[in-house]
Amino acid sequence: MLRKTNSASSKPRSATQTTRHVSHETHSDNTCPNCHHPLPMMSTPVVDNFQSTLQRVFPNAYNLEEFVFRTKQTLIPKGFYPHVNTFVCVGLCRDEITSPFEEEVEAMWGQAFICGSLGGMLFCGKTGFAAAHHHAPETARIVYYCFTHIAIDNLGMIGTVYRTRSGMNEKTTACGALAAFTSEIASNKLNLHFDEEDIEM
Ligand SMILES: [Zn+2]
Repeated sequence: MLRKTNSASSKPRSATQTTRHVSHETHSDNTCPNCHHPLPMMSTPVVDNFQSTLQRVFPNAYNLEEFVFRTKQTLIPKGFYPHVNTFVCVGLCRDEITSPFEEEVEAMWGQAFICGSLGGMLFCGKTGFAAAHHHAPETARIVYYCFTHIAIDNLGMIGTVYRTRSGMNEKTTACGALAAFTSEIASNKLNLHFDEEDIEM
């Protein structure tokens, strides 16, 4: 799953939003008269480091809306009809920055059964999956969207994000669980001990 994160907000700043602001009339304080967002300086070339990294690392990536739409278009010919006969389950990392993905899936398919844990791991087991499937009739179709996530920050760095909405000034890792796992592997200190009191460790 790819979702842009930037330093100003957890909301994505898309190319289309930037274009829309440029086309607006400007106020003397150089803000958009409709939404009062600051407008980009026209004389300064905008280098989108996020897009540069995205195109380099994932050159054919779909944006969130397009991905969900395309999955729906693929599934409809196979008998999966949103809001008619299909129940959706979503397994994402608990990280709050994954919530736009959940919201987009639910906007398409309806309210989802949530199955995710840190890192996007699925710990439902027989009980968890059975609970999900009991929320739809036996004849229903069930679709799962299960992903981990990797942030790209506004400087184009992979695996980091600024969470300014929570008041943090320092960047943090995302996915933090995967970063910790990768660090353990790199330092040859992989912890495979299962702690029953901390199952997401
Ligand atoms: Zn995560």
